Amino acid sequence: MKIRLVVPDVNVHPTERPRRCRYCRKPYLHRHGTFRKPVRDHKLQEAIVDRYKCVSCGRTFRHYPSGITPKDQSQRTVVLAALMYALGLSCSASSHLLRALGAEISKMSVWRDAQEAGEALRKSRPRGRVRVMGADETVFWVKGEEVVVGFVVDGSSGKSLGFEVLFEGEAGAFRGWLEPYTEELGVEVLVSDDNDSYSVAAAELGLEHQLCIAHVRKYVSKRAKSILEQARREYEEQDDKLQKLSEDLEVLKGLLKELSEQGIHEIERLHRGYLCGLLHPGGRARRPRKPQRLTG
Ligand SMILES: [Zn+2]
Repeated sequence: MKIRLVVPDVNVHPTERPRRCRYCRKPYLHRHGTFRKPVRDHKLQEAIVDRYKCVSCGRTFRHYPSGITPKDQSQRTVVLAALMYALGLSCSASSHLLRALGAEISKMSVWRDAQEAGEALRKSRPRGRVRVMGADETVFWVKGEEVVVGFVVDGSSGKSLGFEVLFEGEAGAFRGWLEPYTEELGVEVLVSDDNDSYSVAAAELGLEHQLCIAHVRKYVSKRAKSILEQARREYEEQDDKLQKLSEDLEVLKGLLKELSEQGIHEIERLHRGYLCGLLHPGGRARRPRKPQRLTG
C-alpha cells in the first residue's frame, strides 16, 4: 500500500465563513466573537478562532482556521509526530526532535498521535470484493531489531490491500492477520509462498491455497543451480549426464516460464526419466546423494 503523506497547512485565522450551522445545517449565521487559542506548533504560538451563532437554532459554535482543531496540537505536528514514530523513532526521541523544531509535544502526545494515525489507516482499508488475495512477508530492521511485516495484495490487480507487523510466524498469527481481509473482502483463494503457516491458515479459513508462481520460479531456479553444482562435483566434466542434466534443468525453467497446457506432461516425462535413473543406476541419471524434492 502506498501511503500518501499530506502535511496539513496551518492558518492563523479562518479564511472562510462556515457555510452552515454545525447542529441544524441551516445557513443563517452571525459572527459572535473571536478569541485567541494557544497552539502547539513549530511555527505558530496561537491561532484566531471565530465563534458563530446560528439564527435558526440559536446555538453557538467555534470555527477553527485550517490545520487547527479543538486539540492543543496543530494538525501538522500530529502528522509529523506519527511519521517520526512510524519511521522508527521512540516517543521520547520524536518528542525531543519536535521540541528542537519549536513544538512543545510531549512523548505521551506522540504516542496518542501515532495510535490515532494507525486507527485512521485501518479504517481506510479498501472495500469491495477480492476473490484472489496474495500474501507475503518481508523483514525490516528497525533500531537493530528484526521486524516482520506482512503484506496482502489483490491477486488480480496487484493493488496493495494493507500491511501488518507480525510478531509471530506460526499459523495462528497468520490466521489472525488474514482473517479480517478474508471476511471483509469475500476472499476465496489465497496465493502465497510455500511457508507452511500459510497452508494451515488457509485451511482453517476455508480458503483454496495456491503457490505463487513467482516464488516457485525463484525456488526452482535456485534449486536447479545447486543440483547442477552438486552434479559438477560428482561427474566428470565431459560426462554426457552432466550435459543432459544441465539441458533438462533449462527446459524445466522454460516450462515454468511459459506455463503452457502441455507443460505438465513434459515435467512428468522429465520426472519419470530421473525416477528411472534412480531405480536403475546404470541408466541415464545416477542416484543423487540425497533425495531431491522439487518443492519444499
Ligand atoms: Zn443551527
